[in-house]
Amino acid sequence: MEGTSVLSFILFHPMSSPSNSPPTKKHKIYKITSCHSPLCYVGCTARSLEKRHYEHVKECEAHQAGRRKNVCMSSLVVFKGDSHIELLEEVDEGDDHRVREKEWVLQTPNTANTKIPTYTCRDWQLLTPNGQRYLRNQSRKVTCEHCGCTVMHKNILRHYQTKKCMAVQAKNNTTHAVSHKKNTGGLAAVEPAQEGVCQSCVQE
Ligand SMILES: [Zn+2]
Repeated sequence: MEGTSVLSFILFHPMSSPSNSPPTKKHKIYKITSCHSPLCYVGCTARSLEKRHYEHVKECEAHQAGRRKNVCMSSLVVFKGDSHIELLEEVDEGDDHRVREKEWVLQTPNTANTKIPTYTCRDWQLLTPNGQRYLRNQSRKVTCEHCGCTVMHKNILRHYQTKKCMAVQAKNNTTHAVSHKKNTGGLAAVEPAQEGVCQSCVQE
């Protein structure tokens, strides 16, 4: 049954003649600018740009009138009163518009956007200097102060929990255990990029 439907899909939606296929709904990636603001705002909508712009304006007005607490960052551009909206790209229904939106947000200078769609911890690591330093620290080899093993920096905390290392630690007295705790604390403190990294990514 499934094979039949796939076949009929191919037969009735041939890739070679897009004019025959039904019109696909498109997501529009847009930019809002103002002559009086150095900032701009990048967004995405499946509706008309005019309607979306109107919503941004109304949201900003409601915020200024105190009727709305949380407000979209587009307000930083819209509140100037002379903002206008322009189309950056239309994305086909099948494509991931959020990925394209993210790329536009990242490549457009002076965006007021604070939320970046599909922006992951990995993106942060690859794109920011802090993130890159974090990745370098992670792959750096360090020597365990207890057993002398060479361990990847990112695995050192897990290494402390291994039987081999714990056996060496057990031989040491309690004073040493206290200093071990201090060392662990120090380790986390030296790592400047630790902040802002999600825990699921840290525990690889
Ligand atoms: Zn060790």
